[in-house]
Amino acid sequence: MSSDSLTTRVIDRGEHALAQLAAFRDEDPPTTGGRVLSYVYDSGLPELDDLAIRAARLAHGVNGLDPTVFASVAHIHTGIVARIRELLNGDDGVFGTVTSGGTESCLLACLAAREVMGRAPGDGGTIVAPVSVHAAFRKAAHLLGLRFKSVEVDPRSGRAAAADLLAAVDEDTVLVVCSAPAYPSGVIDPVAEVAAGLEAAHDARIGLHVDACLGGLVLPHWPAPPGRTAPGWDLRLKRVTSISADLHKYGFAPKGSSVLLSRGRARHRASWFATVDWPGYPVVNPTLAGSKPLEPAAAAWVVMEALGEEGQSELVARTARATDELLEGLGAIEGLAVLDRDPGPIIAVAIDESVPDDRRVHPHLWADACGRLGIAVQAQPAFRQERGTLPSSSHLTITPVTHRMVEEILRVAVAAADDVRGLAAPAPPPGLAGVLDALGSGDLSPADVLALPEDDVHAMVVDVLTGDDDDEAGMATLIAAIERLPDEVGSRLVRAYLAAVTET
Ligand SMILES: *Cc1c(COP(=O)(O)O)cnc(C)c1O
Repeated sequence: MSSDSLTTRVIDRGEHALAQLAAFRDEDPPTTGGRVLSYVYDSGLPELDDLAIRAARLAHGVNGLDPTVFASVAHIHTGIVARIRELLNGDDGVFGTVTSGGTESCLLACLAAREVMGRAPGDGGTIVAPVSVHAAFRKAAHLLGLRFKSVEVDPRSGRAAAADLLAAVDEDTVLVVCSAPAYPSGVIDPVAEVAAGLEAAHDARIGLHVDACLGGLVLPHWPAPPGRTAPGWDLRLKRVTSISADLHKYGFAPKGSSVLLSRGRARHRASWFATVDWPGYPVVNPTLAGSKPLEPAAAAWVVMEALGEEGQSELVARTARATDELLEGLGAIEGLAVLDRDPGPIIAVAIDESVPDDRRVHPHLWADACGRLGIAVQAQPAFRQERGTLPSSSHLTITPVTHRMVEEILRVAVAAADDVRGLAAPAPPPGLAGVLDALGSGDLSPADVLALPEDDVHAMVVDVLTGDDDDEAGMATLIAAIERLPDEVGSRLVRAYLAAVTET
């Protein structure tokens, strides 16, 4: 077989696969245009996306594993870290790692904290954080053999008190985490107060991580509301030991790029893995992956250079205007209430408890109704804690493109609220009724469910998925199930649910 005929066949099959890919992508919600108010961060500038694609093309083929071989890796890395460090007011004692995303940045901060404290996996070393901190920290605890000690927030405001966080710190604490802001609510934790309390009374090696995965590139440019100064949370606070900031959020870069900044060489390098104890090349991995793409970081860097300070702050100004307009419009919808928040691009809405039942709008029914009208918002389950349950809510992430969409979003928001006002709270899928009843009556314990073989759990979830012939039943019914199930059972079911979606 000649290589030319192979080339021809490869090209033919490749074209066919590309056409299929295009068809797959047609099934997706639009990643640009502002109709999806979570997951995607659209600058509203298609030219910026083109630059990112060209950057990725230029970076294609490089192995980001080794900056000593591929000098471009080091250039991109230092370029990104220097800019983000300046933005977050770090000095030259702050060092950075470019990672694949927020989860990895958070995970590495936790690993460094464990190592700096000299703790071993499973020996009780603990992460202290508000319940509202991103799930990435629970995942980090799970993977790193740390304990996760959550601190309850005020159920009305969603806010964690610094005193409560500090009271949770003990001799096992390796890291305290604050969010700027928290993803579910947009609330910024009291970082300065926590920093002062840790400084005054605790082991200086205990880390204080600020999770600015969401806020890192947007809050520094956010216009301060008149008469109010934004709460401080960045590296100007000397007790802050690390900050995570995602480039693939408000850096408008393709997915796969984030930065972890750490104070001091020791903490920066504590999360690296290095070994010469094998017969191959000397291994030094600052991040979890070995071989890795340069594409996301290269694209992030080009986007960052293209925008500069001026472009970034203009895009944030557009985001802030859109946020203000949406806050006003959503706040005026009867039956919905905007939850407490700090200035920033996150809005969460819940039931307005001050109106009679028949005027209330359930945020999950509203989210499904918005979805049917072409605007995707994200349902968030109620969260049980001893101080009082955080209400069911729906989440909107505002991005620069939103400023062109405000009118349409509000038109949909109003129509969706009219569609569902006064309706009863969503019920779980009928297929789960038996399990929920049995759990409720005690005939079945959470442990019984957890002991079920995976194949049985799979069958149960497939039943629910396929037994649901009501087109109107959206995410609301599933979230209703999650709200009623014990955490561990809910986690097991959502895992089975996702697996069922992708299983072949
Ligand atoms: C997005 C986010 C993360 C996790 O980031 P991924 O990029 O999704 O891995 C962590 N913390 C906050 C506050 C976030 O918004």
